[in-house]
Amino acid sequence: MRLTRLYVAAPLASGGRLELPADAATHVARVLRAREGDPVVLFNGDGHEFESRIESVHGLRVAVAIGAARAVTRESPVALTLLQCLPRGDRMDWIVQKATELGIARIVPLVSRRSVVKISAAQTESKTAHWRAIAVAACEQSGRNRVPTIDTPRGLDEHLGGIGSAGTRLVFDPDVAPDPEEAAPTAAAAPVALDFAIGPEGGFEPQELDGLRIAGFRGVRLGPRILRTETAAIAALVWLQTRFGDLRGARPAARDGSR
Ligand code: SAH
Repeated sequence: MRLTRLYVAAPLASGGRLELPADAATHVARVLRAREGDPVVLFNGDGHEFESRIESVHGLRVAVAIGAARAVTRESPVALTLLQCLPRGDRMDWIVQKATELGIARIVPLVSRRSVVKISAAQTESKTAHWRAIAVAACEQSGRNRVPTIDTPRGLDEHLGGIGSAGTRLVFDPDVAPDPEEAAPTAAAAPVALDFAIGPEGGFEPQELDGLRIAGFRGVRLGPRILRTETAAIAALVWLQTRFGDLRGARPAARDGSR
C-alpha cells in the first residue's frame, strides 16, 4: 500500500514536531488507526513533501516528527486554468477531483446565463470550502504537493471583465469548425499558461461566445459528439495535457519491466 499522505495548512520544517490539526488528527487516529512509529508524508502545498513518523497518538491528539524534505515535482509544465460553468447536482465535486488528479492549476467556477444552478451568496463560501477540501484530498491521493487554486464562483461576464489581454485562451464549443489544430496553439510553441472554458449543460449563449471571442478565447471542438459538461471538462484537460503538458510523450513501459 502507498504511504499515507497528509496535507496540513501549517509551516513544516525537517527535524520539527507537529501536533496535527483536528481534522487530520481525527482521520489519522480514527480512520487510518495509525500507531506510534507509522510513516506518513506531510505536505503543505509549498511544493515539498516531508517523510515523517507518527510520534504519539493520544485519543484524537496526534503528534508527528517531521523528517527529511524532498522537493518533488508532479506539476504540469503548463499552468492550466479550467473555467467551468457550474453543472447540476454534485458533478462539480467530480470535476474538481478528476481535474486535480490530472494536474489542473486553477479552477474558476462560473455562473453563465444557461446555468441551471444558482448559488446564493450564503452558499458561496461553503461550496468553495467544500471544493477546496476535495482538491486537497485529491492531492493527498495523487501525490501532488501543490494544491490547485479554487476560486469563489462568479459570473462569466464578471470574470471576463477582470482578465487582461495576455495569455492563451480556448473555449470548448461543439459548434465550431471541426479542426482543433487550426484553433489551438501548436505543440512546438507550448504555452506556459492556458485558460479553457467549458459551458453548462445547456451550452453557452451566442452572446457569451461572442464575449469569450472578444476576450481572446479561440473555439475548439472535441470530436463530433456532444459531451456532457463534466465529460467535456475532463476530455479537454486530457487533450491539453497530452498536447502541451505532462501527458505528452506518455508511452508504454519497456518490456523488461524497467520504468
Ligand atoms: N446543449 C449544448 C451542449 C452543451 S454540452 C449544445 O447543444 O450546444 C456542455 C459543454 O461541454 C459545452 O458548452 C462545451 O463547452 C462542452 N462540449 C461538449 N461537447 C463538446 C464538443 N464536442 N466539442 C467541444 N466542446 C464540447
